[in-house]
Amino acid sequence: MALTDAPTVTTDQLTELQAGIATARATFDSGRTRPLAWRKAQLDGLLRVLKEGEAELSAALATDLGKPTTEGWAADIGTPASEIRHIRKHLAKWMAPRKAKLPMSAQPGKGTIVPEPLGVALIIAPWNYPVQLLIEPLAAALAAGNAAVLKPSELAPATAEVLTTLLRRHLDNEAIFIANGGVDVSTALLAEKFDHIFFTGSTSVGRVVMKAAAEHLTPVTLELGGKSPTIIDSSARIDVTAKRLVWSKFLNAGQTCVAPDYVLVTAQNRDALLDQMAEAISTFYGDDPAASPDLARIVNRRHLDRLAGYLQAPGAGTVAIGGQIDAADRFMAPTVVLDPELDTPLMTDEIFGPILPIVTVADLDEAIAFVNARPKPLALYLFAEDDAAADQVIASTSSGSVCVNHAVVQILPAELPFGGVGESGMGRYHGKSGFETFSNMKSVMQRPTKLDPPVAYPPTNAFKDRLIRKLL
Ligand code: NAD
Repeated sequence: MALTDAPTVTTDQLTELQAGIATARATFDSGRTRPLAWRKAQLDGLLRVLKEGEAELSAALATDLGKPTTEGWAADIGTPASEIRHIRKHLAKWMAPRKAKLPMSAQPGKGTIVPEPLGVALIIAPWNYPVQLLIEPLAAALAAGNAAVLKPSELAPATAEVLTTLLRRHLDNEAIFIANGGVDVSTALLAEKFDHIFFTGSTSVGRVVMKAAAEHLTPVTLELGGKSPTIIDSSARIDVTAKRLVWSKFLNAGQTCVAPDYVLVTAQNRDALLDQMAEAISTFYGDDPAASPDLARIVNRRHLDRLAGYLQAPGAGTVAIGGQIDAADRFMAPTVVLDPELDTPLMTDEIFGPILPIVTVADLDEAIAFVNARPKPLALYLFAEDDAAADQVIASTSSGSVCVNHAVVQILPAELPFGGVGESGMGRYHGKSGFETFSNMKSVMQRPTKLDPPVAYPPTNAFKDRLIRKLL
């Protein structure tokens, strides 16, 4: 949506938003957010949000997305809690100025890199992991000593409401301001000046965010989406591959930014893969997946209709597994589609739902060429026992992350920076990379005045010229 067509907030809403931002800025300017003790207190507050709010958050996630209890806990409570504990443990070390080695030409002198907070960060979150994707960037922003303005997703309203109450209860309300609402509120916020914008959402809205940020020259982190491919090499162990694919694809009913979007497999492995996937689906979710307590629901009717439309579109291919829909329950069965045409929406749009298209390719080279002919994905998956195949895929493709012989799990380790490349986004977070995203890594050089050799000063001569050429 162009900025000019965007819906607008009322004058009262705008006054409230601007007051919230002004308070956050005044708090930041007062210096309150800088000390380690304040930062740790906010991280502890976030841990209390997750621990004390666990039951309420789980219930809200079930209302918004039908999230199964264990899955909801793991993704939206356990994962952010683990990230926060990691940040808290290492924060003092990350905050300390780091020594930089200076060359001869800068001697005598001392070089340091001093991390300093940026100011007020705007964090805009999506609905699919509505707790994790708000809390984790917030933890990074607060750890780096910033104030923050938060915009939870309006499409997970129960979670947004519970989160708002809990965050207000446990955090410094003069440094953290929560603005709930839809595109109107987001648009109004984006017109204001921030020191960093951290956006998680679709590539199309990412463009809107970056344009708005350009007005104030505000740096952005864009955590976007796209189609993450899965390549199955001829050396893959099909039994394990099928189980891991089924788990990672149908987690949160496929509404995961790094979910395998489509599979590239050779004809030789295709039927075995289909058989093993059918078996894994029935083992995991039973013969009637609609009755399984382990499958989430589609976020709303509009998205369910979008997904149903993919299956009905011309050239959508053959539904090999699943395909059942219960609109009243916002349910779509785990679905596998065989050989859709490449210009059908299933193969051009990000699916973001429980449909997995399988495309037959001749060999690994063709699979790599297929990936490279499309926008750079957020994640790329390869299933292969052959290390040479893994090396070839890693070296000859570009993506935000690669995971070999599994999918989705590469986002979990705090010290693997997470983010996209090209149309799947820019910037990184998780662990230390998140701290650095929300910091100005300021370069500082200090030189003594005791020695002041005239070599660099004019007038130049042949000796100075020779010396400068040696030193640099
Ligand atoms: P979205 O882009 O529609 O919305 C994200 C946020 O932006 C919401 O808070 C929404 O209110 C706001 N927004 C929507 N339209 C806007 C506009 N025109 N102007 C300003 N703000 C606007 O995304 P979504 O539907 O919530 O989430 C799904 C998308 O997010 C998928 O593409 C998915 O791949 C991506 N995603 C990426 C990651 C990641 O970490 N890279 C994680 C989750 C989701």
